Parts: sequence; C-alpha cells; structure tokens
Amino acid sequence: YCAKSEMTGVALYDGEKDPHSPQRLSLINELGRAIRDDQLCLHFQPKIELHGQRCYGLEALLRWQHPTLGMISPADFIPIAEATNLIHPLTHWVLKQSIATCCEWHSAGFPLSVAVNLSARNLMDDTLPRQVELLLEEFGLPHWALELEITESSIMTDPRRAMTNLERLHALGICLSIDDFGTGYSSLAYLKRLPVQTLKIDFSFVRQMLDDEQDEIIVKSTIHLAHNLGLNVVAEGVESEALLRRLQALDCDLAQGYHIGRPMPQAALETWLTDSRWV
Ligand code: C2E
Ligand code: CA
Ligand code: CA
Ligand code: CA
Repeated sequence: YCAKSEMTGVALYDGEKDPHSPQRLSLINELGRAIRDDQLCLHFQPKIELHGQRCYGLEALLRWQHPTLGMISPADFIPIAEATNLIHPLTHWVLKQSIATCCEWHSAGFPLSVAVNLSARNLMDDTLPRQVELLLEEFGLPHWALELEITESSIMTDPRRAMTNLERLHALGICLSIDDFGTGYSSLAYLKRLPVQTLKIDFSFVRQMLDDEQDEIIVKSTIHLAHNLGLNVVAEGVESEALLRRLQALDCDLAQGYHIGRPMPQAALETWLTDSRWV
C-alpha cells in the first residue's frame, strides 16, 4: 500500500507542476466519477485518552482506490478537489459516511466520536453548518459525537467568514479542533476568539521531541498554552511507547499515531476496538 501510494505521489507531483497537464485534467474528471462509483472509502484512526487509557474517538481519513493507479493518497487528490468545486460533494460524502459509521459504533456499544477533516473552501461555504445539522438529524447521531478538524491556514483565508461559520457549527454542539497546530500563520489573538475545544499538535513537532530539545519545548509550551486557555490537546504522530509515556508525563490529554493504531478500514477497526489495550 505504501509503496504504491508513494509511486502515485511521484507521478501526480510531476503533473502538479503544470495545472493543465493531461494527468491532472483526467484526475479531475475521474475524481468526480470516483465519488459516484464507490471508489472512495474511509479509514479510521484511533485517538486515545492518555490518562483514562481508553479510546476517545476516531478520525476519518479519506482513501481513493483508483481502478488502474491503485491507492491514491489524500495528500495528492485533496488539493485537486480543493482547486475545483469537487471539494463540496467530496466533504458531504465524507460527513455522511462518517456519521453513518459512527452510528454503527454506537449501536455496537462503542459510544465514540468521529472526527472529519475540513478544507479551507468548506469553511467559506455558508451552507455547510445546515448540511451538518441535517445529516446529524437524518442519522440521529448525538451532536457531541461529531468533531470537525480545521487548520489554522484555512481560517486565515477569510477569517471573518470562517468565524461566522465556525460559530454556527459550534452552536450545533459539535466539537471543533485546530489541526496541524503550530504550522500555520494564525495569531494567538484569533485562537482566543475561535470557538474551538481542542488543539492538535502537528507531528512535525511530536515525532522527534525525545531527541530534539527545541521540539520538546514547543510541545510542552503548546500543552500549557492549551490548558491555560481551557482547551484539550492531542499529540499526533505518536510512533513509540517512549513518546507516549513522555506525552503522558507532560499532561497531554489525547494521542494518535501508528504506535497506538494505524488508520484502518471499518472491519479491522472492530477487531482493534475489541482487542486493543485502549478499550
Ligand atoms: P492530517 O489530518 O494531519 O492527518 C494525519 C495524517 O498523518 C494521516 O495521513 C495519517 O495517516 C498520518 N499519520 C497518522 N499517524 C501517524 C504516525 O504515527 N506517523 C506518521 N508518519 N503518519 C501518521 P493521510 O491519511 O495520508 O492524510 C493526509 C492528509 O490529508 C490529512 O492530514 C488531511 O489533511 C488530509 N485528509 C485526509 N482525509 C481528508 C478528508 O476527508 N477531507 C479533507 N479535507 N482532508 C483530508
Ligand atoms: Ca486531521
Ligand atoms: Ca494533523
Ligand atoms: Ca497534516
């Protein structure tokens, strides 16, 4: 899977240099078809509570099983969707699928939350809050069980408009978190006013924090900042037990990473939920 996705990544990257390249244009057409033809699926990656030692929820991560190119990484096709209007039906599909799957977990006795990634264009879409509300009603999912992950840079495209939509989403009682925290350009003044409950520390800071003192200072300070603002903190990219223990000692609330659980299809997740040490 990895090798394949890396190979496609290289091929697409070359196409990216020229926005009118045949590969890119055909991918735009094919992505539209992929949504209709069931070539997309979601994998789910666990987030665990470092103190309670239990699974808190799952993040939905999009996968495209292309009929000839194989598995294409979201890092390669999300930017294409964002550059076209395809991002809107795509996000709607991810929301619907995530909410439906989360309902299945609840019925199976796992009252977990599901987190969906939004892109900048979604935050500019004034119809999004109503779409989310209708989907939650359609499936009867309790609103606390949905979390939306947004990046700092997506807010900064048009902060006032983003803020209005975030306020409307917040009013629905769903959770909002800032993804890739520390990598964007947002100011702390915005952070203070945003209706978010959680910060996710980007894994570029987490990954080497045991060997790199500056990374550790950044992680530690982010945890303090978040707690002083009354926010929860998630560390992403936790690839070892040593890292997990260090984060626990630093009073980080939640963690996510390959050491805890990789993104997995729904069927594998059921096994993980029953067998892992986090339940
Ligand atoms: P992200 O939201 O920051 O998601 C985390 C990425 O890191 C995921 O890559 C995940 O598989 C990977 N990851 C998780 N744990 C580890 C770890 O311990 N080590 C390492 N090296 N990597 C880890 P993925 O699934 O390829 O997704 C890449 C990005 O694509 C996501 O970054 C997100 O920005 C975007 N994306 C994925 N699904 C969606 C979606 O449904 N909608 C939107 N708008 N963006 C999405
Ligand atoms: Ca995310
Ligand atoms: Ca992230
Ligand atoms: Ca990222």
